Amino acid sequence: MMEDKIFDTDAKNYLPVFKRYKIVLERGEGAYLYDINGKKYIDFLAGIAVNVLGHNYPPLVKAIAEQASKVIHVSNLYYTQAQSDAAAKLVKLSGLDRAFFGNSGAEANEGAIKIARKFAKSISADKTQIITAWNSFHGRTLATLTATGQPHYQEGLEPLPAGFDYVHFNDIDELAEKISDKTCAVMLETIQGEGGVYPPKNDYLKKVRELCDKHGALLIFDEIQSGIGRSGKFFAYEKYGVKPDIVTLAKGLAGGVPIGAFICTEKVAQAFKPGDHGTTFGGNPLACAAANVVLDTIPDEKFLAHVEEVGKYFKDKLIGLQKKYPAQISEIRGEGLILGAQLDKPKKSGVEIVNECMKRGAIINCTVGTVLRFIPPLIITNEQVDEVINILDTVLGE
Ligand SMILES: *Cc1c(COP(=O)(O)O)cnc(C)c1O
Repeated sequence: MMEDKIFDTDAKNYLPVFKRYKIVLERGEGAYLYDINGKKYIDFLAGIAVNVLGHNYPPLVKAIAEQASKVIHVSNLYYTQAQSDAAAKLVKLSGLDRAFFGNSGAEANEGAIKIARKFAKSISADKTQIITAWNSFHGRTLATLTATGQPHYQEGLEPLPAGFDYVHFNDIDELAEKISDKTCAVMLETIQGEGGVYPPKNDYLKKVRELCDKHGALLIFDEIQSGIGRSGKFFAYEKYGVKPDIVTLAKGLAGGVPIGAFICTEKVAQAFKPGDHGTTFGGNPLACAAANVVLDTIPDEKFLAHVEEVGKYFKDKLIGLQKKYPAQISEIRGEGLILGAQLDKPKKSGVEIVNECMKRGAIINCTVGTVLRFIPPLIITNEQVDEVINILDTVLGE
């Protein structure tokens, strides 16, 4: 078997950090992936919220091919049309003032943390505290895994960067107690993703904004997973009527080409002078050419209305499953096309459910062991939602 050879070679050579599912993926088309045996899967993971326009999307493929044939990479010591366009689009869409490109989510957050620290230092030398949420996920570099409020990502890696504190997401009283004039920034996922799909409740984010303003702390929204149209708005914060000082993006931003970005206000931007931050690859013309296709497609009102509509259809169907299997699913959470089904004493574990769905041709995800997470390409249709719901129905019902 061709895949056995790949599994063996991987087992001998690749760093053993991923618990991989035993399939070898070869190509994709729209919301579908195909493995090397030609088996078809409906893809409701999208490379973890990355392939927002689906697979093999012709305008994206064309833009990447055209840019590659001109120039793939030039140094940030020079200008390119692609980067200039992508930054202008992000500034316009966000209502913020300046964008910076890196290569990943962690790098985007690392940059946001750095600029926040530098900004706060200009106010007071001890204004260094960064408050994040328990259950959050912000990346794997030392600063971002420290920002991540899940201790298992930090164990064994100490000493960790200092100055991080944690509060429970949606608990405004706890934040009110912890925040002070020594707080540099509050950093939150607008909708928690990896931690189990938790949207903000009531006016939580508005109240967070008020507390930040009261104490001169910056508000950073990590929209690496919830941004790029996934919530039904281009930025999830638009849904909650709250504007951050800094927002970070990555995952879906270039439709699958590695990229990250942070966007900030002019006031914050001025904390960095030439030489204070940089990157070799970040925002290279190949990545930005891909991002430009995403940024020309997803902010369109009709596209976002589609996300909202299919998302609602999907959520209703998931609620239907919850009603049918109340002993197994205790709650459905999420907005737009970032949805989660909380498992409660299921007959099968989350991983078993994911594996059985895969056997039946559906790629879904289980996060934190107990939440089925659905973050499909944003181009999916109601019929494709039905495909996945039918497979889930079979798997849960057995
Ligand atoms: C995935 C993710 C990150 C990290 O992105 P990488 O590209 O893996 O570094 C950070 N924050 C959130 C909310 C994410 O979902």
